[in-house]
Amino acid sequence: MRRCIKEPIPEIFAAWDAMKEAVDAHVHGDFARAEALFRQADVREVWDWLNSAWVGVIKNVVEMKPAGDSKVIAKSERDPDRNIAPHVRAAVLERDGYRCRYCGIPVVHPDIRKIAVQLYPSSVGWDNRDPSKQHAGFQCLWLQFDHVEPHSHGGRSSVENVVISCALCNFGKDRFTLRQLHVEDPRLREPEHIIGYDGLERLRTFAIPAARPPKAKKQPVVLPVSVQPAAGVERYFFPGGWISSGYVLTPEIQGKSRWFKLSDEVQAEEAVRDGINGCFVVCHPELLARRGLDADQLLDVPRPEGK
Ligand SMILES: [Zn+2]
Repeated sequence: MRRCIKEPIPEIFAAWDAMKEAVDAHVHGDFARAEALFRQADVREVWDWLNSAWVGVIKNVVEMKPAGDSKVIAKSERDPDRNIAPHVRAAVLERDGYRCRYCGIPVVHPDIRKIAVQLYPSSVGWDNRDPSKQHAGFQCLWLQFDHVEPHSHGGRSSVENVVISCALCNFGKDRFTLRQLHVEDPRLREPEHIIGYDGLERLRTFAIPAARPPKAKKQPVVLPVSVQPAAGVERYFFPGGWISSGYVLTPEIQGKSRWFKLSDEVQAEEAVRDGINGCFVVCHPELLARRGLDADQLLDVPRPEGK
């Protein structure tokens, strides 16, 4: 018996380290470093480790054809709730922490990945239909809720039968039993949280709200990026910033969400700069200084003509 289908490789932990550092950099307002670290976490070896598993696992099981263990039951006898209820998910996460109960690698909730994709679309790629266009780190550390006894075998969507798992341990298990896969029941081992690891949950406060006002309702106080700011006024870029009801809003910078009222003194435009969604704000540096922000760090550095 083994603890998991495929033993993790050290590159997974290297990718995880880069992702943790990326989130730290983002929290501290160092967006360029966050961008670079997320890119660093998109490790080829990790992608290969995960994606080469699919064909192999299924093939192995089909070839083994273990007798007497397949107990697929009629649909009418299965737990009517294939979906795991939110309160069950919460209790399982509380018990297991952000770690796969099978192979022990750290995991990240898909909500966090979605936020990283919003904030850094050019370094955190994600195409739901094409795994080759999915960021290796987020793909591998993808937090999943796994039915230990498969639902098709009568396993219930209960706290007792559901564990936290990574993508490979859940998808790789597919509809097969642990015995068929020669994998130990993870519930026989006590869950062990990874000390100090929060599942990158601190990125959650930086989500860009989905419900944004329609473009047509935007106030006309916007400045085309091509227009040069007047004397004494500078153009800044706020990664993750957006415009709503006459205000520019930003994710937390130095621990606080920021807002600026649009006026003759503050003009803004939503834009993508170097692959990062955000908002240009044209205003006097004094306005940023008053909020305790480092104006130089947010300054939109002019690029050469034609770029
Ligand atoms: Zn796992």
